[in-house]
Amino acid sequence: MTPLHQDDIKNDGAARPRPKLTLDIRTLTFNLLLFALVFAVGMYFVQRSQPGVRGLRWWAAANAVGGIGFMLLSLRGLIPDFISIVIANCLLLAALFCFHEGIARFRRLPNRMPWLGSLLVTILALLLFRYTYILPSIATRIVIMALLTAIPAVMAARLLALDVPARLRSSYWFTASAFIQFAVVSLARAAYTLMVPPADLMSAGPTHAVYFLSIFFLLVVATFGSVWMTTVHLGMELEHQARTDPLTGAMNRLALTESVVRDLSRARRNDRPLSLLIFDLDHFKHLNDRFGHQRGDAALVAVAAATRQELRLSDMLARYGGEEFVVILPDTDKANARDTAERLRRRIEALKIDRGDGSVLTASYGVAAFPEDGADPDSLVARADTALYAAKEAGRNQVMAAEMPA
Ligand code: GH3
Ligand code: MG
Ligand code: MG
Repeated sequence: MTPLHQDDIKNDGAARPRPKLTLDIRTLTFNLLLFALVFAVGMYFVQRSQPGVRGLRWWAAANAVGGIGFMLLSLRGLIPDFISIVIANCLLLAALFCFHEGIARFRRLPNRMPWLGSLLVTILALLLFRYTYILPSIATRIVIMALLTAIPAVMAARLLALDVPARLRSSYWFTASAFIQFAVVSLARAAYTLMVPPADLMSAGPTHAVYFLSIFFLLVVATFGSVWMTTVHLGMELEHQARTDPLTGAMNRLALTESVVRDLSRARRNDRPLSLLIFDLDHFKHLNDRFGHQRGDAALVAVAAATRQELRLSDMLARYGGEEFVVILPDTDKANARDTAERLRRRIEALKIDRGDGSVLTASYGVAAFPEDGADPDSLVARADTALYAAKEAGRNQVMAAEMPA
């Protein structure tokens, strides 16, 4: 006999029973239902406050449907079998497909098989009906349920793990882990069931408690994960907005400053050239005065888009001021930068935007290069600006490079 602890001896000296650690499935269920409903309502309101983030309504639905399914499942014996077996399990499967749909929408990935969820839920309903009423077999039902629920769980994990940008990886993989653990536990439960067929679900011992915990874990981790993913996503969007010119989509001054500093130090470290262009639209005031500000804005958008198309992916376009832009050309020497500027100049001219003074919209360009024109951002910008001024003086619609210092 194991010795009794002091606390186990009552004052009168009689032993009292030791408390046993048990996972009571019905208690677990009510906890989970509470979680699921709070999450469902919470996600619904998160979605309402963040219409730009997609799919959260589906996550809310997944929680509500899954929570109810789980509750019905645990009311076995208290409510009709048809509800606690057929409907409950179908709701759990439907909840997994809601998660999958929510993830597809969140990531803006196409859901190529939107019909799969309805099809599998229907198949599950028919099979559960067969193995409850025609050929009753708990083991068969468990195996069918495990196989069918593993499908959307693996699909959801796959959508989360696919091509994730580095910044989002932790939150996506964390969420994916919820679905993977659920698929693994379901399949393990199926395998165990095949080896040791249970007599009755509610008294089937620890494997079912583990399965129920695994559903609990899925809902909690997936929901926390979705909130985490949303937070990171919103943070990135905010950062992007803070660095982007809203009209043209080009980088703004803040992003330009950071980029020049970074690219210049990289050029210095790798002993590579770097060029900087400044261009300014010619007599842009005419266009505004003649056609109005909106047409002026549209011209700025067109110029930025055409310029970006002519540039390499590693080049950077920023809006420096009203109708002035800066282009950073890493790994590009002055001669090549001149050629690029000339190509950009011709491209803008070819847009044939009516300036309202009998001429098409054109631009003038100033070019400066590291290392010959300066080694820090300010002097490079100043040299390019001087060259731009010279291009304006010389009659506009042309490219001028900074003169070599005497
Ligand atoms: P120059 O060839 O000497 O550069 O002549 P300009 O008329 O382009 O020169 P200036 O710099 O005096 O005029 C720039 C004009 O650009 C003035 C302003 O109305 C217009 N502008 C600046 N920002 C915007 C903008 O965001 N939208 C529109 N539509 N116009 C803008
Ligand atoms: Mg101008
Ligand atoms: Mg200007």
